[in-house]
Amino acid sequence: MEEEKSKCSMKMALKSIPQQHSCFEKKWILQLNQQEDINDFICLICKQVANSPMEIDCPQHKDMDESLIVGENCLKQFLSQKPNSCPVKHHDNCLYSQNWLMKRYINELDAICPRQFEQEQQQGYEEGKTTRFVSCNFKGKVKHIDYHLENSCCLQMVKCWFEPFGCNHLCLKSTIHDHLTSNMKLHFDLVIKSFDTLQQTIPQYQKLNLENEKLKMELQLKGKKDEEIADLKQQLEQYQKNNLQLNFAHKTTLAEMEKLKKDNEIQKIKQKMQVNLNSSMNSKEEEIQIIIHHWIRTFNIKLGWIKDFDKIVVNYVSLF
Ligand SMILES: [Zn+2]
Ligand SMILES: [Zn+2]
Ligand SMILES: [Zn+2]
Ligand SMILES: [Zn+2]
Repeated sequence: MEEEKSKCSMKMALKSIPQQHSCFEKKWILQLNQQEDINDFICLICKQVANSPMEIDCPQHKDMDESLIVGENCLKQFLSQKPNSCPVKHHDNCLYSQNWLMKRYINELDAICPRQFEQEQQQGYEEGKTTRFVSCNFKGKVKHIDYHLENSCCLQMVKCWFEPFGCNHLCLKSTIHDHLTSNMKLHFDLVIKSFDTLQQTIPQYQKLNLENEKLKMELQLKGKKDEEIADLKQQLEQYQKNNLQLNFAHKTTLAEMEKLKKDNEIQKIKQKMQVNLNSSMNSKEEEIQIIIHHWIRTFNIKLGWIKDFDKIVVNYVSLF
């Protein structure tokens, strides 16, 4: 039964005191406890009362007498700066573990309200000067402190409810009502003022909205025009392509026509040549005919003359 109860309070303690909490101020704990009550729970690193105590278990420190305790947050910070090191003595691979028993013991210690403690410390420094008269009389276990600070501490500082309208007053939670009732006129004026500014701002907003709409429309139109331009560009490109193809075809046709023309001329020349050849052949033939005739005639004459010459020669020879 007792065991179950402490387990339950442990859960509560874990919930109410976040792991990131730094160690507890020794002076504050000593308000309701004796030095010998906390001697074994002092954090090696910050020398305050360990919050969520961790025990250093490295075999290197076996012979040391004292308990080697550090607050969880202090150890985390130490290891983030010097990874793998040890807060007791410089060596690698520090071994540590949570000491649940010690944690439970510390959480069960009595304490006064930390805000009250802080206030008393300040009053100590500014003796006689202080005008504060509110004090928190909370006394409870360490594990209940967070809940007290959040929910029931009269020293909690709060902002004025009219902060969004421009009142920057900060005061104790217990005195906020005094501030609100004694500054009703101020708060009313602040609200009216911000209402006026809002009314002035609305037409500006509306104007801006209109301009915004206009710009949107223009953008849409521009988008459409851009699309059209892109379309036209595409068409133009197609035309240019077609034109190039046509040009090429035209050139080919011209070349073919040129070739045809040449062929035609060649044909004509051939025909002419044929005609020339024929006519020259004809005239040549005629000429040959004439020459042959001529030759035959001349030949006949010559032959005739040779016949007579033979006769003359024969007659001449027979005389001798
Ligand atoms: Zn510490
Ligand atoms: Zn060590
Ligand atoms: Zn308090
Ligand atoms: Zn106010």
